[in-house]
Amino acid sequence: MSVREEFDQWANEGRDRGMEERHWHTAKHALARMPVRAGDTVLDLGCGSGYAGRALRDTADAGRVYGIDASPEMATNARSYTDDPDVAYLVGDFEHLPFEDDSVDHCFSMEAFYYASDPDAALSELARVLRPGGTFYCAVNFYEENVHSHHWPDLVGVEMTRWSEREYREAFRSAGFHVAEQDRIPDREIEIPPAEEFPTEDWESRDAMVERYRTYGTLLTIGVVP
Ligand code: SAH
Repeated sequence: MSVREEFDQWANEGRDRGMEERHWHTAKHALARMPVRAGDTVLDLGCGSGYAGRALRDTADAGRVYGIDASPEMATNARSYTDDPDVAYLVGDFEHLPFEDDSVDHCFSMEAFYYASDPDAALSELARVLRPGGTFYCAVNFYEENVHSHHWPDLVGVEMTRWSEREYREAFRSAGFHVAEQDRIPDREIEIPPAEEFPTEDWESRDAMVERYRTYGTLLTIGVVP
């Protein structure tokens, strides 16, 4: 299935809100670290329900916020959650962003970047639209070191790029970014049941679940355009 078809289906089933709830545990920490200033133009790549853009309007007084998503149904859902005229949700593709060169201050992306059909092209495209000094906060739960994520492509049924921490840094640099920081944000909020409740439908052991959420968490790579 194509990314668009897959996520149109998710949106129609209301799963955009479920993702928001789960991803918010770590996404909010990444968002709080972004150097967004009042009036800045911000992109959210693969916005899903669009929560990140709304949060940056509320907390950082971002000026104009654009959520981009390949799925028209996701964009429709996202639009229905706000009447803020400075938040727009557009159907688009990471590799072809509908913006002028040097026109965007900062970009955020949560659990979306690895779906890019050409991730290197997506990074170059982002480097094109970001202003010098602009940042890309790229957050992913699917990455090489997180061994508990390796089977996800079989579950989702679309192609996903699994890079290591080092491969993220190298790809950012090849696309022209400086890597300002890279670290993992643990999920301290997801409830981990007591040992006697394992195995569960999703987890063989409690240790595996603890490792996935509390140790590995979300990989955040922060790129800055020179
Ligand atoms: N950021 C949201 C949604 C994550 S799901 C959250 O944290 O909950 C990933 C989203 O990225 C989906 O809505 C999917 O349609 C979108 N997406 C995947 N590949 C894309 C691409 N190449 N271009 C644009 N959007 C894409």
